[in-house]
Amino acid sequence: MRPDSADLADAATLWKSAYVHIPFCLRRCPYCDFAIVDESVEGRSSVERYVDAVLAEIEMESGIGPLDAINFGGGTPTRLAPEQLASIVESLETRFSTRGGAEISLEANPEDWTESLAAGLVEGGFTRVSIGAQSFDDHVLSSLGRNHTADTIASTVASARAVGFRSVSIDLIFGHPGESDESWQTSVERALSLDPDHVSTYSLTVEPGTQLSREVRAGAPAPDDDVQADRYEYFVEKAQAVGIIRYEVSNHARDGHACRYNLSTWGNGEYVAFGLGAHDHIGRVRSRNHRRIDRYLEAVEAGERPRLGSETLGAAASERDALMLGLRLACGAVLTDTATHFVESREGKRLIDAGVMGLSGGRLVVYKPMLTDAVVREASSVSAADC
Ligand code: SF4
Repeated sequence: MRPDSADLADAATLWKSAYVHIPFCLRRCPYCDFAIVDESVEGRSSVERYVDAVLAEIEMESGIGPLDAINFGGGTPTRLAPEQLASIVESLETRFSTRGGAEISLEANPEDWTESLAAGLVEGGFTRVSIGAQSFDDHVLSSLGRNHTADTIASTVASARAVGFRSVSIDLIFGHPGESDESWQTSVERALSLDPDHVSTYSLTVEPGTQLSREVRAGAPAPDDDVQADRYEYFVEKAQAVGIIRYEVSNHARDGHACRYNLSTWGNGEYVAFGLGAHDHIGRVRSRNHRRIDRYLEAVEAGERPRLGSETLGAAASERDALMLGLRLACGAVLTDTATHFVESREGKRLIDAGVMGLSGGRLVVYKPMLTDAVVREASSVSAADC
């Protein structure tokens, strides 16, 4: 099925999934504000304790299943041994069961990749890998704080294919001030020449509290919105020409390779989540875990869910969430009462008149994907004003 099909998006609203956050990273990248454990500062002494805590946390959850998708993100999941990752998969399968053909996916760092890791992951049940390439320009990679090279990415992709992953995805970051048009074009060409099943493209953003933000405040050049929009459009056009179709703002896939976990979350589907800073969504309850490793570990080891907070959404707030998420999809958001109200509002009409969004196939579609965040903000303020 085409990755941008409305039928696929509708089916995904019923899928159940699980997310596992693996927070360990070799070092913190200068642009990153995620909940991680920076091994260059904090070491690896908590790895085994963390795996035990995730296994214990899984035993505390019962409210979902069977699973259509399991996703390991981070952090860097490949900082764990394949046996540790496989033990978590096995625990999820035992606790919640999985449907036939379930997607079991993880993010991988080319720096960690070895033949034995790859074989261990496939043996442990993983079907999909998302390789954090980021760029094929070694200077840009260095500016992004990455120690791998373009050649390492190519060999990682080849190895993932050879060992039998069903889907191989590549992650790219565009718009670093040190990246030229030519280097982005080369990155796109090299990425597509590896024949990936899926590509995720993210614009570099300056998050408060990061090294990049401090550098920008001290006078370093910031990413430029117009340059990023051009780079994004360049990618979308080149990818489409080789059959890799945009199905969400940042995600592009060949037929049959859309990421199930991501489609399910954008469809406002239910997912359980485990690990540091993980967020889950069951029924109308959204919960989030502690972001500090000491608090997370202490809570789980005391036999408690490591919750930082939870909220139960009313029907209107839940429909608003579905609209916010659905606007990210290439096929658009379902025309619920909330969506229709937005379309008929002054802000909605202005966006339609400007050609930023419109109705297509009975859904509300953002035609200029790089403006999705702005559309979502407008939709959120219109629907919040009515609650
Ligand atoms: S590898 Fe990813 S999660 Fe880890 S510090 Fe870098 S950007 Fe953040």
